[in-house]
Amino acid sequence: MEIILGKTAGFCYGVSNAVNKAEEYVKCNKNKTVYCLGELVHNQDVTNKLEKEGLNFIEKVDEIGENISKEEKSLIIRAHGEPKSTYEILKKKNVEIIDLTCPNVLAIHNIVEKFVAEGYYIFFIAERNHPEVIGTLGFCDGKCSIIENEEDIAVAFEEAISNKILVVAQTTFRIEKFEQFIQEIEEKVREINNNKEENSKIILEVKNTICNATRLRQEETEKISRQVDYMIIIGGKKSSNTRKLYDISAKNCKSAILVQNYLELENDYKDELDKIRKLQKVGIMAGASTPKESIEDLINLIK
Ligand code: SF4
Repeated sequence: MEIILGKTAGFCYGVSNAVNKAEEYVKCNKNKTVYCLGELVHNQDVTNKLEKEGLNFIEKVDEIGENISKEEKSLIIRAHGEPKSTYEILKKKNVEIIDLTCPNVLAIHNIVEKFVAEGYYIFFIAERNHPEVIGTLGFCDGKCSIIENEEDIAVAFEEAISNKILVVAQTTFRIEKFEQFIQEIEEKVREINNNKEENSKIILEVKNTICNATRLRQEETEKISRQVDYMIIIGGKKSSNTRKLYDISAKNCKSAILVQNYLELENDYKDELDKIRKLQKVGIMAGASTPKESIEDLINLIK
């Protein structure tokens, strides 16, 4: 059997930076209670490992121990980032912040904040419940509509309170869908502007903020999934970028599966594993939050 493993499979630099720095910080600050707000990255195996090393995962800032002094506690902000209000609450609570927000996400926060200050309304092409999206919304001062599906486009135009519109995207959004939405938005703007006076025409700015790591992984998955008999995607089920790789694979390849780790394939998909072992060409891709050990374990299991 030939196994084609994506060259870009596994940790992106944002995740790798967050995991390495969090591990290092916990190791060097054994005297402190170190919290992390939400999962550091969307991968249960990574979370379990960090928990064992001493990181305390919490869902809300209220869970931070009130009786612990400032010097004895700190909180890690994960790669997805947090809304502006979280920073303000933490400041009030006197908690030291270790900010591991990915630079690509920080860049989007800066862009939306700047454009909103200049009177723009934001169209955010994104999954509305994703933590990164909730974080970015916190920098839009309420002047933002989320476009997750085609139907949301018309709603966004109704909600826009300015004739200056900026379109941005969640870093891990599917490129193909982003491009399709942009075409539809541009068409709608042309249609609206045809009936407007020069000084009230819509001014449209588009910034493709899908990150390079996402783009490369999606492009490689497109390529591999067209050549193989079976495509295996490995990564966290909550990971947005991992799910997109599965969607691309399912579209291009007649058989595709998404598993969190080799154990899931071994225990829950025995029949699929038997089938995979008899095939000629199998493709493997992993999301940007999947550690390399998980990929190696999966390959060993198949072999
Ligand atoms: S997927 Fe992109 S934005 Fe997200 S952590 Fe990785 S590099 Fe940063």
